[in-house]
Amino acid sequence: MKKYNFNAGPSMLPREVIENTAKQILDFNGSGLSLMEISHRAKDFQPVVDECVALIKELLSIPDGYSVIFLGGGASLQFCQVPYNFLIKKAAYLNTGTWAKKAMKEAKLFGEVVEVASSADANYTFIPKGWTCPTDIDYLHVTTNNTIYGTEMRKELDVPVRLIGDMSSDIFSRPVDVACYDCIYAGAQKNLAMAGVTVIILKDDALGKAPREIPTMLDYRTHVEKGSMFNTPPVVPLYSALETLRWIKRNGGVEEMDRRAKERADILYSEIDRNKLFHGTVEEEDRSLMNICFVMNEEYKELEKSFLDFAIERGMVGIKGHRSVGGFRASCYNAQTVEGVQALVKAMKDFEAMH
Ligand SMILES: *Cc1c(COP(=O)(O)O)cnc(C)c1O
Repeated sequence: MKKYNFNAGPSMLPREVIENTAKQILDFNGSGLSLMEISHRAKDFQPVVDECVALIKELLSIPDGYSVIFLGGGASLQFCQVPYNFLIKKAAYLNTGTWAKKAMKEAKLFGEVVEVASSADANYTFIPKGWTCPTDIDYLHVTTNNTIYGTEMRKELDVPVRLIGDMSSDIFSRPVDVACYDCIYAGAQKNLAMAGVTVIILKDDALGKAPREIPTMLDYRTHVEKGSMFNTPPVVPLYSALETLRWIKRNGGVEEMDRRAKERADILYSEIDRNKLFHGTVEEEDRSLMNICFVMNEEYKELEKSFLDFAIERGMVGIKGHRSVGGFRASCYNAQTVEGVQALVKAMKDFEAMH
């Protein structure tokens, strides 16, 4: 049976990315060696890193004065590496969910942390608005897409301070004004690659300001200076990132990814709004195009398990909601197809007709 992958992360990748990576794992560039057994310093691998950097700069129109590096440790390591490198005295965080909260917890180890606003009391069903941003801060940290709760900020915030963005689950899904940021980071396994690599975009002249000793491996400058080759980078994940970046470029870049995301989300949210069994969990204006969360209406609540089984039987994978929201979550990253979303909509309609 055809499977429709709605996993939140690691998640669906374009089939070509997987096939091309698999080929290189068997025989890297005709060398007779596997991608898994070459040296990262091999002359053949440096071009992989170089092309990844070049494509990221091109796809996101990154201005001069920024570096792109690749590290291990996931986005979670960035929760501490960001304040380690950027927090001088005080930083502000917009609390929009689980990941933002985790980032704040780590930042508190390095200085004063101000929570500028929070939607925690409403179980993070909206992005807080109308708050004032302090100006005496080193940076404002935002989570542009809240993978668990299904809210998203699809525009850069208009604030008079430097931004740092966790874009783990929406990077490359839309154009971004990189110039607003001192740092953007993203674990690759949502929208870019297999798990194991984190992309970090850094404004060069924002580095080196924090008044503390930073361990070599945690100092961004180490990796900027060595072009992500200070130590062994995650070779296979990086190669899979390259294949995805090429795929994004071939398919029209982030503008086209944005258009596709809107198309898919429109189809699914329209059905959620129309169907008598379901409703969306977040405020309409903050709805994520990447992680679409919905639950069953109160009077049908007891059917949740049965709809889940019904959808699984039709090939849907990964639509069970995160435990902190319940219900369902359909993750629709770049590789998701209109066909996949339509299959889910069909399941929702057919299930509705049975009740
Ligand atoms: C998944 C996720 C993380 C954590 O990523 P890891 O790579 O597992 O550390 C952080 N932030 C956001 C927004 C995420 O979606």
